[in-house]
Amino acid sequence: PRRRIAIDGPAGTGKSTLARTLAERLGGAYLDTGAMYRVATLQVLRAGIDPEDAAAVIATSADLPMEIGTDAGSERILLAGEDVSDEIRTARVTAGVSAVSAVPEVRANLVGLQRRLASGGGTVVLEGRDIGTVVLPDAEVKVYLTASPEIRARRRTEQDRAAGRDADYDEVLAAVIERDRKDSTRAASPLRPAEDAIVIDTSDLTLDEVLDRLVALAEG
Ligand code: C5P
Repeated sequence: PRRRIAIDGPAGTGKSTLARTLAERLGGAYLDTGAMYRVATLQVLRAGIDPEDAAAVIATSADLPMEIGTDAGSERILLAGEDVSDEIRTARVTAGVSAVSAVPEVRANLVGLQRRLASGGGTVVLEGRDIGTVVLPDAEVKVYLTASPEIRARRRTEQDRAAGRDADYDEVLAAVIERDRKDSTRAASPLRPAEDAIVIDTSDLTLDEVLDRLVALAEG
């Protein structure tokens, strides 16, 4: 049966790990929509454009030669044929992504692509900020993950260090708070839970505990 699972929420809630693991567990496809906004941002930065310059962002990202897989086991993201999976996680891209993703034309492009990638049938897990509200408003399962900014910043710091990137907790916390503010106050698809989403506060839960809840929701 068709089962579309929308997982939204801010950074540092364990969203990516949970969504990917859930997709693997259910034998479904997985789409990291944040990665798509990051690739668009990388292209803007490589073109030497200021992410805050909306007109230039629109002109540059109208043609986005991006390839993204929906295989939960291997995240491979290409920009013009080049594997950019690591580069899109750098602090430079993270700092620019809220501005790029606030541009309605960029969103319209990527939302269209996300809907096409999700339309295959079977089980698909989409992870992002606006999946339950905009991309798939009729998804069978909608979950919104939250956690306190301090806990999310701690998780992000650990995740960055584990991936070999420099990370200072105070800087990560400031960036987390700033990105939340930008993502939730923008005019286009602000970050918020869908009315019919199940909200899970992951502050005091382990990843396995959250995963168990997600599996139960998906199978229930
Ligand atoms: O999830 P991730 O941290 O990789 O997302 C990066 C950024 O992309 C978010 O801060 C947000 O600005 C944007 N985004 C979005 N809509 C989505 C997914 C991500 O606006 N569906």
